[in-house]
Amino acid sequence: QLSLRLSSAAAYVEPGDRLADIGSDHAYLPCAIVSKDPTVFAIAGEVVDGPFQAAKNQVQRLGLTDQISVRLGDGLEVLSSKDEVSVITICGMGGSLIASILDNGFNKGHLTGAERLVLQPNVGERTLREWLVNHQYSVISEEIIEENDKIYELMVAKKVPSKKITATETDLTFGFYLKDEQSAAFKKKWQRELEKNQYILNSLTKSSTDQQAKIKQFQAEIQKIEEVLK
Ligand code: SAM
Repeated sequence: QLSLRLSSAAAYVEPGDRLADIGSDHAYLPCAIVSKDPTVFAIAGEVVDGPFQAAKNQVQRLGLTDQISVRLGDGLEVLSSKDEVSVITICGMGGSLIASILDNGFNKGHLTGAERLVLQPNVGERTLREWLVNHQYSVISEEIIEENDKIYELMVAKKVPSKKITATETDLTFGFYLKDEQSAAFKKKWQRELEKNQYILNSLTKSSTDQQAKIKQFQAEIQKIEEVLK
């Protein structure tokens, strides 16, 4: 049984897809997808030996070795053009790590631009959106998920080379669609951020040293969040 976070990502994998799950850990995501839909072929990539072995064991135990290729390597370097990957999932890492995996893949020619990207950053969503926009990716879908009192974002992106992709500062920080949808999880996430910022601002104003620059920065951040939370 997949977590809600991973099953939400799995929902963007389609019949007949050739999936690369990067940072697969125990390969739970590709195993669940392929067990349910035998038309999907998957590659599970891992850079650390322990999780790589765990992924291999899991795939073997479930008898899925014909459908899932478990590979040890850094990011998208485990892929070759012969794999004809149609969808890449990268879940459960920071947004800046996901962006750097995509960036290395892009620079080394492992990212063709034909793949659908299903990305689930735990933090650092803004950095990831910025990378996508700067590399001609259009975010086609976004979700915000609450599970075990944690809030996760999920985004799906597709490269659109012919179109100029633009994003406002608000889009990058709060999401292209999430800020308009204003779901309960979205409100909770940004209410928490607001409180964190207010707490810091409060301690800064009490500080004996001059904190004007920092105070201004936190005031601006608080204002930005208050404007989005309706
Ligand atoms: N994707 C799974 C999930 O969402 O539950 C596992 C997330 S786990 C927190 C992150 C995994 O990514 C770890 O197993 C880690 O070894 C792996 N990882 C980190 N950097 C990586 C990289 N550059 N290439 C491949 N795997 C990486």
